[in-house]
Amino acid sequence: MARLLIHNAQLLTPLGAWPIGWLLAEGRHIQQMGSGQPPEFAAKTVTQAIDAQGLTLAPGFIDLHVHGAVGFEVMDADPEGLRAMARFFARHGVTAFLPTTWTASGDAILKALKVVGDCQGATPDGASILGAHIEGPYLNVNKCGAQDPRLIRPADPAEALPILDTGLVRLLALAPEIEGNRWLIEACVKRGITVSAAHTSATYADMVAAVGRGLRQTTHTYNAMTPLGHREPGVVGAALALPELSCELIADNIHVHPAAMRALVLAKGVYGVILISDAIRGAGMPEGEYPIDDRVVHVRDGAVRLPDGTLAGSILTLDRALRNILAATGLPLSVAWPMSSLNAARAIGVSASKGSLEVGKDADLVLLDPDLAVRLTVAEGRVIYDAEGDA
Ligand SMILES: [Zn+2]
Repeated sequence: MARLLIHNAQLLTPLGAWPIGWLLAEGRHIQQMGSGQPPEFAAKTVTQAIDAQGLTLAPGFIDLHVHGAVGFEVMDADPEGLRAMARFFARHGVTAFLPTTWTASGDAILKALKVVGDCQGATPDGASILGAHIEGPYLNVNKCGAQDPRLIRPADPAEALPILDTGLVRLLALAPEIEGNRWLIEACVKRGITVSAAHTSATYADMVAAVGRGLRQTTHTYNAMTPLGHREPGVVGAALALPELSCELIADNIHVHPAAMRALVLAKGVYGVILISDAIRGAGMPEGEYPIDDRVVHVRDGAVRLPDGTLAGSILTLDRALRNILAATGLPLSVAWPMSSLNAARAIGVSASKGSLEVGKDADLVLLDPDLAVRLTVAEGRVIYDAEGDA
């Protein structure tokens, strides 16, 4: 079995940062970790030893909300596209992700899911696919954002149950104030699927009721939801005030002002915020025009917009999101790291094996330099990206 040793690294562990430490992966798991220099035996029996030269070893990033990259999108239902996305994400420190669908016909969603199922698990030289995230069509047309309003509809069991019963869905985003969507919260919870409030005009009271039914997350918090008012707290107020809710955040400085990002982290703490990319086809591509379902988006000055100016996803990568949140909050990486890994793992119920540097968990690792540039990415014990070997 392959044994990978990374030594001379600052290790970010759940019990604090170790200034100098080592980590030994055997097969897909973290077999041993320690502070200081590794014992002799560890160095002798390894297949590969990497001197981290004092750089920081963090848990690999997990992106729960990502539609596409490098010219591909999940809705293309193209296995080569998913694999290309997985390789691109690896370059940005991501070791696992949820391919995310959007508002479309039931058939189109099932077709995309079939391909996610075919590609689920480890991918060659890429981030692992943990299942799927369904964002739409069960949203509120008044907060559609870039989701196609013509196709937004209440959840019909005849359509939604076959989607859930693929067994691939880990996360489902819906508008909880729509009467016809309420049953779906319980149906998801029963199947172990996390439910998030998205593209929603819910009131604070609607959100309290939805949390009572088992809703546990807010989708791209602040975006496409009722804003905070001091007499009507809305969805944003619920996100800030209710401890049951974990909050997705697109930290690209375009979707949300850095001060609002900071306010969110202050309210939720570093365990309550989940950095996501919400990236689309144009991520990792030159700026220009890209198709989105049967429409077109423009990527310009780092923003993705429909012709009417509506933001339509992002070209963000999680390494940049992490850099932005550190700048917005002033927090050190040694404190803020759960926002790019552990919180996502917990949100979809995979934290027993993913999301932190602990013995027995998957060896999902990212080695970062002081500017948070990704130097090495390891998924389930395999090096999936090495900046050194990358011309
Ligand atoms: Zn959205």
